[in-house]
Amino acid sequence: MVKEVQLKISPTYINDRSFIGEKIKKKLRLKKDAEFNFKIVKKSIDSRKEPFYLIKILVGFKEEVKSDADLISINYKDSAQGKSVLIIGAGPAGYFAALECIENGLRPIVLERGKDVQARRRDLKAIQQDGIVNPHSNYCFGEGGAGTYSDGKLYTRSKKRGKIIKSLKILVDHGANEDILIDAHPHIGSNKLPKIIANIRKTIEAHGGEVRFGSYVTDFIFNNRICEGVVINDEETVHADKVILATGHSARDIFHALHRHNIHLEAKPFAIGIRIEHPQALIDEIQYGQNPREENLPASSYKLVSQINNVGVFSFCMCPGGLIVPAATAPGEIVVNGMSLSRRDSPFANSGIVTAISNEELNQKGYKGVFANLDFQKEVEQKLFQFGDGSQKAPAQNLIDFINGKEMLALNDTSYIPGLYQAPLHELLPDFVYERLKQGILSFSLKMDGYFTDAANVVATESRTSSPIRIPRNPETLTHDQLDNFYPCGEGAGFAGGILSAAMDGQRVVKAIVKSLA
Ligand SMILES: Cc1cc2nc3c(=O)[nH]c(=O)nc-3n(C[C@H](O)[C@H](O)[C@H](O)COP(=O)(O)OP(=O)(O)OC[C@H]3O[C@@H](n4cnc5c(N)ncnc54)[C@H](O)[C@@H]3O)c2cc1C
Repeated sequence: MVKEVQLKISPTYINDRSFIGEKIKKKLRLKKDAEFNFKIVKKSIDSRKEPFYLIKILVGFKEEVKSDADLISINYKDSAQGKSVLIIGAGPAGYFAALECIENGLRPIVLERGKDVQARRRDLKAIQQDGIVNPHSNYCFGEGGAGTYSDGKLYTRSKKRGKIIKSLKILVDHGANEDILIDAHPHIGSNKLPKIIANIRKTIEAHGGEVRFGSYVTDFIFNNRICEGVVINDEETVHADKVILATGHSARDIFHALHRHNIHLEAKPFAIGIRIEHPQALIDEIQYGQNPREENLPASSYKLVSQINNVGVFSFCMCPGGLIVPAATAPGEIVVNGMSLSRRDSPFANSGIVTAISNEELNQKGYKGVFANLDFQKEVEQKLFQFGDGSQKAPAQNLIDFINGKEMLALNDTSYIPGLYQAPLHELLPDFVYERLKQGILSFSLKMDGYFTDAANVVATESRTSSPIRIPRNPETLTHDQLDNFYPCGEGAGFAGGILSAAMDGQRVVKAIVKSLA
């Protein structure tokens, strides 16, 4: 017999199994010497008053308790002789598609423009320290994709619990901490992610798959309704039966290559804004009422949303105890994003604050056609770059000045390694974007007392929130409407918005391929 128990536990005792065991006995009115085993299957924090953990526990008396994750077994097959599937992009969508291939006896060939996770580090150092952006190897491009050197948050809006658990289990099998299976807000951290990604590559290769780095897809070979293959680095041709395109939201050249072949694309609404950085201690004080916070409490986070003139302004990819990083994918642009290490122990809390941008809004402002949103995104990133000194130093403003439209107060310390410089963001950002961000931040400060403070910086630009283009696909077959063997996938195609949803979309398109082969 297995029983389910919910308990409220003070942070002091959250890692104390004997304390939790006593609580279980009390709750279930068990005898002092009762024998049982238990497993925590869900853990969240309630910080509305005094912060405490809410945990869901399975208690077993005769048999050993098993969680949903324990019941999942994944068997990879030797796929060396299987039908080949060409996967473009080694991000979460591409790698999880490759794993799903070997689970089904298909042979994945992954083409990745960037370098392996280790070699990629050198290029990240070059961006951070010298402001040099390698267009093939940066915070978005390279093995593991945009998710590798990230915060590694693993949240998704998807309600498909079985699929979420399977994806998390795959990460655990490749080296992630088991806590991600139970945390309400699981995260890995960019010190742990590279090893996990390298392990995933080893699994793919050990089962007959192939991963080719430095393989920049520059063109496609289309014949009637078939993608016969791709051109790599403008010289080599690779043929394929099935092609999965998982190149992420920043592969602008891929969108242009498809457009040249008259492959149907659509402008997609996205969001743009700035990244805001507060001292983590201040956010802890607001969220937990504690400064310093108790040892067993993680750096606190927030999620804020507001409607300004019926348009959304919201926090995006909040990184507690994290760092702001330069996420440009080409020279001549300023793009920032956030990451954190597994311990989330930097003294800073950063978050994107962005506003939704619709097709209609940009259309009215004269941005037309499929590339309207992408052109706007690029224009903002380049304008902010041109205001600077040609390095990856980011334009910034004290939060109070940003709201008041002034340049008076000094900037605060920052986690952004290339450095910040004072800039009139209220003038540099498009008027309508600035106005909505300003109103949005003011409304956030009503929800979080102390959020509007001179201790915070505003840093531009947070522009790669999602893809500004969708590559449409048939909802049944998951192929592009014009092509019978071509599967747009992941965030770049507009079907995912984060590590986990991209990974699950990769699995989904392979399931569609398996179905088509059957
Ligand atoms: C700094 C940062 C922090 C982030 N933090 C989080 C987070 O904490 N949680 C979260 O859920 N999401 C986070 N994200 C977003 C998340 O990383 C993406 O949503 C996710 O990686 C999308 O997966 P994908 O596989 O669809 O595309 P990507 O991860 O973008 O992968 C695309 C891959 O395709 C390759 N590629 C592109 N063009 C070509 C070409 N022509 N030929 C061959 N290869 C090509 C790229 O090099 C890349 O490896 C973060 C992103 C960044 C940049």
